[in-house]
Amino acid sequence: MGKPHALALPYPAQGHVIPLMEFSNCLAERGFKITFVLTEFIHKRIMTALSEDSDIKNQIHCVSIPDGMGPGEDRNQIGKLLECILSAMPGYLEKLIEKINESCEDKITCIIADENMGWAVKVAKKMGIPQAAFWPANACLRALLIRIPQLIESGVIDANGKTRKQEMIQLSSTLPVMDTTQLMWHCFDDPKLQQIIFHFVFTNNQAVKDADWLLCNSSYEIEPSAYSLNPNLLPIGPLLAGTRQRQLVGNFWQEDSTCLSWLNQQPACSVIYVSFGSFTVLEESQFHELALGLELTGHRFLWVVRPDLTAGQAATYPDGFQDRVAARRRIVSWAPQQKVLAHPSIACFITHCGWNSTMEGVSTGVPFLCWPYFADQFLNQAFISDVWKVGLRLNSDHNGIISREEIKQKVEEVLGNDNIRARALALKEMVKKSVSEGGSSMKNLNDLVEAMKGTR
Ligand code: UDP
Repeated sequence: MGKPHALALPYPAQGHVIPLMEFSNCLAERGFKITFVLTEFIHKRIMTALSEDSDIKNQIHCVSIPDGMGPGEDRNQIGKLLECILSAMPGYLEKLIEKINESCEDKITCIIADENMGWAVKVAKKMGIPQAAFWPANACLRALLIRIPQLIESGVIDANGKTRKQEMIQLSSTLPVMDTTQLMWHCFDDPKLQQIIFHFVFTNNQAVKDADWLLCNSSYEIEPSAYSLNPNLLPIGPLLAGTRQRQLVGNFWQEDSTCLSWLNQQPACSVIYVSFGSFTVLEESQFHELALGLELTGHRFLWVVRPDLTAGQAATYPDGFQDRVAARRRIVSWAPQQKVLAHPSIACFITHCGWNSTMEGVSTGVPFLCWPYFADQFLNQAFISDVWKVGLRLNSDHNGIISREEIKQKVEEVLGNDNIRARALALKEMVKKSVSEGGSSMKNLNDLVEAMKGTR
């Protein structure tokens, strides 16, 4: 019998590629051959970011297919990208699988698709290949999304996803309240775009309904009641690459690992880590206020300033800022975040609350300061500050700005709060247990691997 051969397909965004790449690394370690399918655009970005890192031992075979947009077109035109993905990619994927199966001894034995690429489950079914759908966010949000038909029926949203009445929904008393106006398609003002995103979410959501396996990058212990609301959903996370040596992570920007040696020189629990993930864009005025806030805290800080973090042009710092804080700051354009968060010198994490960042902070026991912008980030903030109580919210002032005084005050509060730190450490232990041998996520992962191998 040949090797089991999994084809993995992430949605083309950083926060989707990283966890699916990690899942693929887990499968590769357990004897799977992996074909990791990226869009041509993202493949090029990852290979460019990697080009100077010759040490990487890649056990994953990355290939690419077109996303349906023209080569020079702007992928930030999200509506166009989503329409192209749905119309063009199923055909390209099918052709790719046919080609692999004709030319390769180890034929594809299962397809693992990000739920946001749920259409691929249909392609797999059509071709008679077993399929798994991978949900890269929390199970609580998924529980709401699989109830879209009921939301329509009860008049909360219309058939195009448009909110008819704002509703605060709490699916269980131990889960956060969800505001229906914060669902991902409402993050844009343009009604046409809202409709396209809603259609994309709903189409994928329906397509994965009867997938062979439904997987979630979360752990049962951190949101137990969400799993009774998601029939057949298997938590297998949080999947973190942090402990691996020199394996492909899937970064879109080149990692600046010099910040780790800088961290080595700082006292324990002394550095504020600030990162807004891959997508968030700050207004210039907010960027300046954050810089002045970090200065005002008087603490050391490591700040990720992506080349596209500020709207319009490259970031400019307040006059004299860089010199005034020179002795206690490190600014990088992309950090090895999981290693940074695991470093003993990190005291707290100012985050946009993306699910991966949330899981990474939870797994390392670092207290959070929450600064959500978009989609599920508000829900993740609610988990952090209201359910697990391992962090605090940063609140905007009447001008919609998070002020330097608010930053200083909340940093003092979170660093001075022993209860938050104790809860963060307890949560870390709980999550660590679930991904260790014998733990709930690890058991699900091992069972899944056996079941997937059985389909050969
Ligand atoms: N990340 C990183 N280096 C950085 C900033 C972010 O490696 O400097 C990684 C982070 O560890 C996480 C991912 O990028 O795995 C971001 O995913 P998340 O869900 O937190 O946010 P998104 O980018 O999807 O908004």
